Amino acid sequence: MERRRIIFATGNEGKMKEVRMILADTGLEPVSMKEAGIETEIAEDGKTFEENAIIKARTIMEMTGEIVIADDSGLEVDYLNGEPGVYSARYLGEDTPYTVKNKHMIELLKDVSEEERSARFVSVIACVFPDGETITARGTIEGRIAYEEQGGNGFGYDPIFYVPEFGMTTAQLPPERKNEVSHRGKALRLMKEKLKERGI
Ligand code: IMP
Repeated sequence: MERRRIIFATGNEGKMKEVRMILADTGLEPVSMKEAGIETEIAEDGKTFEENAIIKARTIMEMTGEIVIADDSGLEVDYLNGEPGVYSARYLGEDTPYTVKNKHMIELLKDVSEEERSARFVSVIACVFPDGETITARGTIEGRIAYEEQGGNGFGYDPIFYVPEFGMTTAQLPPERKNEVSHRGKALRLMKEKLKERGI
């Protein structure tokens, strides 16, 4: 059966790789902006993950007239009152390597106790239809900021996101396992259900 093409509004290859794996067993074929030949800068000026996910999906839907899905995600650190949150990608500068961002985060929390290192990854998936209808789905995973970077899988803050349940960071989890338990996996599976209800 031919899979239905659906544009996934991201330029983040790490995210795209996960989305491809998570949607592999569905009738949906996610296509990146690059693959769809779209080049644009989207001003993510929303205050919440929901607002930003909708801004991204709506912008690309308006450019293409096709169904578009987007993810807005980030790391909320309780000790930092939820920061970097929606600013996770821009934290310390968009082009700053994550080894630098991660080391900085570890340094910020160097005297902070185990219990106060709680954090979560949040992902909100938005889907915007050509008629403007918009649906969203949210997923989270709870963890702690690690004392050192560990693991080479995943992307972004994965090497410092320690999940006590697994005794390792999300960068140490095999990719398939991360997708089973991650914020993005949960949000996308919820979105799959919502799309199924609409016959997609
Ligand atoms: P966005 O592209 O504006 O949604 O930015 C999301 C940012 O949040 C990423 O660039 C990472 O910094 C962080 N992030 C979101 N999901 C993950 C994840 O699964 N692992 C590690 N970092 C993540």
